[in-house]
Order: sequence, then C-alpha cells, then structure tokens
Amino acid sequence: MAFLEEQYKTIKEELALTKTTLVAVSKTKPHEDILEAYKSGIKDFGENYVQELVEKSEQLPKDIRWHFIGHLQTNKVKYIAPFVYIIHGVDSEKLLVEINKQGQKLNKKINCLLQIHIAQEETKFGLNETELKTILTQLPKLQFVNVIGFMGMASFTSEQTLIKKEFDYLKGIFDNSLGLSMANFNPSILSMGMSADYHLAVSCGSNMVRIGSLLFGERNKPEAKID
Ligand SMILES: *Cc1c(COP(=O)(O)O)cnc(C)c1O
Repeated sequence: MAFLEEQYKTIKEELALTKTTLVAVSKTKPHEDILEAYKSGIKDFGENYVQELVEKSEQLPKDIRWHFIGHLQTNKVKYIAPFVYIIHGVDSEKLLVEINKQGQKLNKKINCLLQIHIAQEETKFGLNETELKTILTQLPKLQFVNVIGFMGMASFTSEQTLIKKEFDYLKGIFDNSLGLSMANFNPSILSMGMSADYHLAVSCGSNMVRIGSLLFGERNKPEAKID
C-alpha cells in the first residue's frame, strides 16, 4: 500500500498538539491510496489539477472535503465550484470575481484563501501587499465568496532562516487582517507548510498544513504542468 499509515500516525499526533489541520495532498495518487487514507480517518484531501479533482470527487466518498491547492485558471472555476471545500490559491482579483460569479449561479458562498507571494523565487504565484489591499477593497461586493484566510508557499531551499522569514511575514499579514471587519472576510485559516517544512510552519503559526509525499511517498508524474 502506498499510504504510509505509520508516518500518518506520527504526523497526526504532532499536529494534535497545536490543533493544526492536516490536508493530505493526494495529487497524482490513485484512488486506492486515497481510500486507505480515508479509512485511517483523513477527510481533507488536496488536489491541484482540475480534471483529476473532478474525477476523484465523483468516484470517492461524498463526505471528503476537497481542497483545491493548485494554480486555478479562471475558465476552470465552474468545474470545481459545485463541490470544492476550500480554494487555497486565489491570487488575482479576476479569479475571485469568477469564483463569485460561479457561487452566485449555485447560490452558495465559496470558501477561499488568498495566496500571498512569500518566496524569493519569481515563479511562485501569489499576491503582493498592494494587490492584497486592492482585493480586500473589492470583497464587500463579492457576496458569493467567503475569504477565510491566507495561503503561502515558502522558497524551495534548505535555508531554514529564509523559510522562517517567509513564514513569519505571512503570519504577520494574517495577524494584521484579524483586526479588519468587512463583509465576506472571516479569516481563521493560515495554510502554510508542506512535507519538507511543516514543523517550521507550525512553529511560525500555521494552522493548516498541506502534506503529500510524507503520507503517500514520492510522486512520479512531473509537476510542472499547470491545470
Ligand atoms: C504538492 C503540493 C503540496 C504537497 O507537497 P509535499 O512536498 O509532497 O508535501 C503542498 N502544497 C501545494 C500547493 C502543492 O502543490
């Protein structure tokens, strides 16, 4: 079996100490692996390819909470809007407006996390602080979205001080936002930390980690593809 149950138990105990939510990142992994994890008690799964997420949501248990954690293209929002639990990577106003439009069609509010650019690398997606401010001013008009927090990805490096600096920066944004009172904005989630850096993320104040390879083993499909 490719679901690593022993590792899961260790991670689960660690995260329980800080009441951190685990999202099991199951992208590229087969249904059997997800079912194994589900039977061990995991209900939150993260995917980052739209088509794969739609197929899995149709075929796997209905009480799974599906997190979309990838880069979402505007024209694909409609496919996941009916069932997605949280969209983690909202990184433009255009995308948020489209999510609102799909929410309106379904007459439901869609949970979103704003992705903040925290890494040094140019390639990582996310809003800068100016863009964040602009988006926040638009939020009261977008009554079919519910922004429930922030998400970020640290630099891909082994330099712990740099990663810590990036996580601290995002925690600062999260903390500052807690004082804002505005329609459609109810921040409580700070989604940061993956297999390689989740300990550090939790010590920096993350309350939701997205862990893939530690739970399911290394992935084999290339990840460069954007869906
Ligand atoms: C793939 C992915 C993860 C999980 O990565 P691991 O290193 O396998 O834990 C977390 N977050 C995002 C956005 C991802 O794309």
